[in-house]
Amino acid sequence: MTQTASRPPGTRVPLPLDVEAIRADFPILTRTVRDGKRLVYLDSGATSQKPRSVLDAERDFYENHNAAPHRGAHQLAEEATGLYEAARARIAAFIGGAVEEVVFTRNTTDAINTVAYALSNAATAKEPSFRRYAVGQGDEIVVTEMEHHANLVPWQQLCERTGATLRWLGLTDDGRLDLSDLATVVNERTKLVAVTQQSNILGTINPLEPIVARAREVGALVLVDGAQSVPHQPVDVATLGADFLVFSGHKMLGPTGVGVLWGRYEVLDALPPFLTGGSMIEVVRMEGSTFMPPPQRFEAGVPMTAQVVGLGAAVAYLQDLGMDRVQAHEEALTGYALEQLQAVPGVTVIGPPDTVARGGAVSFTVEGIHPHDVGQVLDDLGIAVRVGHHCAWPVVRRYGVPATTRATFYVHTGYDDVDALVEGVRAAQRFFGVTPEEATA
Ligand code: PLP
Repeated sequence: MTQTASRPPGTRVPLPLDVEAIRADFPILTRTVRDGKRLVYLDSGATSQKPRSVLDAERDFYENHNAAPHRGAHQLAEEATGLYEAARARIAAFIGGAVEEVVFTRNTTDAINTVAYALSNAATAKEPSFRRYAVGQGDEIVVTEMEHHANLVPWQQLCERTGATLRWLGLTDDGRLDLSDLATVVNERTKLVAVTQQSNILGTINPLEPIVARAREVGALVLVDGAQSVPHQPVDVATLGADFLVFSGHKMLGPTGVGVLWGRYEVLDALPPFLTGGSMIEVVRMEGSTFMPPPQRFEAGVPMTAQVVGLGAAVAYLQDLGMDRVQAHEEALTGYALEQLQAVPGVTVIGPPDTVARGGAVSFTVEGIHPHDVGQVLDDLGIAVRVGHHCAWPVVRRYGVPATTRATFYVHTGYDDVDALVEGVRAAQRFFGVTPEEATA
């Protein structure tokens, strides 16, 4: 990202996306909330709203093609399989991966657990080729202090199951990864490094290159949590250089219930399954079973077919907008929001103060008012934000705050939404009698 912090405060650079036209694509944005107020939706980081094309794709699937893919010899099953696999191909192309490297999961959390359980199951796998990446006693897993619980707790649990040790990279005071001890934290004992590309609470975009390079030096796998990056910026797995990339459909205009585990093929192929059952087997006998190659090996049971089709439509929508423009749009809004919020006495942004290597998650505290109370006042004004620890408890602890208020932006967000947020924060200060003058006193 380029630096926009040098712009005069309050500057509204022209937004790359046509906000009014985009809003018209989102039926939910036409409704009002809290007695007729316009919905100002600033919680896309938790889950995004869905454009009509995604809703239509799901409805069309159920109305016209519904069947279990990869089963049955009838026309509907063929059509369902075709739609399911076409979505896989589109999503693979979207991130620059091969079709057989895209595994559908329920969400990011499910994708991370799939890898974590595969690594612990590997130790006891009957098939010798599944033992290559086994994690056990004496091994280490590395995460960062910035991770969402989804990219922390599964690794803690893996360590408990296997006797491996969890280590982590810390944070700097301005909300960035502290890489000063990278060479010691990631070492010959490291089996896997799991790191987020973009923080859901600080907005920080992490420098993955040195981390991936160090992991390669010591022969460790790398998992990138793309839950907050894939929806908001171009991401290409070849450039990333990691072994796994995970993300959620519902955060990128798609349906809930579908996520993606992209894995480098040779790595996926050397991993045992996590969930087992139908759809993922090659041959089943009473004495034992063999498994399909990836991606089917990791897709046990009838999959979330309509949701996958809906995610394909979401990706098509984003491709039409262009991910470069999506990123530039959010960067302009983020620069403006940071300037406007930091101009309010008593407001402290938790995370990088400008748009350098930063995405559109803006977390802040308001002196003298608990974040939950800020959220309550904003909600009364029709402004939806998230308050709390944002499933990244170690981060709020690191910065010594009980919680934050977080605004997140997306393709339908405009300057009017940011203005509403800033005015809402001022309204909260007035409501609680914490005037800007008092806040700075
Ligand atoms: N990782 C990050 C960075 C996130 O922001 C989230 C959700 O907010 C997740 C992982 C978990 O995503 P999901 O709940 O869709 O599994």
